[in-house]
Amino acid sequence: MTSRQSLNDLLAELPSRDWDLLRPHLRVIELNFGPALIEAGLPVKQVIFPHGGIVATMEILSRGESIETGMIGRGGVVGSGAAFYDVPSPSAAVVRFPGPASAIEAGQFRSLMGISAALRDVVMRDLWTRSVKAEQTAACNAAHSAEQRLCRRLLHSRTLSGSDTMLLSQDLMAQMLGVKRNTISLIAHALQQKGVIRYSRGRMAIIDVDALASRSCECQLADGSIRPLASPRLSLAPRAVPECSIQRSPS
Ligand SMILES: [Zn+2]
Repeated sequence: MTSRQSLNDLLAELPSRDWDLLRPHLRVIELNFGPALIEAGLPVKQVIFPHGGIVATMEILSRGESIETGMIGRGGVVGSGAAFYDVPSPSAAVVRFPGPASAIEAGQFRSLMGISAALRDVVMRDLWTRSVKAEQTAACNAAHSAEQRLCRRLLHSRTLSGSDTMLLSQDLMAQMLGVKRNTISLIAHALQQKGVIRYSRGRMAIIDVDALASRSCECQLADGSIRPLASPRLSLAPRAVPECSIQRSPS
């Protein structure tokens, strides 16, 4: 496995010539809980290729409520659309699960998109994939119950994070689904009573993944949610990031 293949799936797909164009402009950052990576309505400062962890895209409503609209892991890229078109980001992006990532300044990314057809191809394919998932989620929100949707999101989070245990408050779960906290409380209690999950003080553990899958809606298939956790690429454990090819952030 080369160093590039251990980073982000999109970066791993680039031909060597295109990777060599991109590599000098990438720096490694740590995605941590805290301020939003991207603020809705503001220009994107950097485009982020997660190596691990999860970044959630959030729609901010006029009353200040925020609803999760998507999750991006090592198979995707954050902020690419707004950076490419040089427009304010329509949505916010926040870290859902910490992990390392490669970041490139938005203007530099835009320049390279004009040079590298391969970079354009992987980025546009990622945008297309997310568009398809957004359509699937719109149908999911309209047709499937809150319990089915929560089970789907937990399975997808498990796949992206590579862990059966997650820091996930009920407020956060309510935000993920766009439902009241009380709704989540009732569902989480029922799932715990049935031995599907274990939940305590904001830490949630999946106990029975098959039972969780059986309670999820069919949309889990679009997420590839039931992948086993055997792949080391999905591990939440800190990974050694190769120093040979990428500048480390000065911070
Ligand atoms: Zn669904």
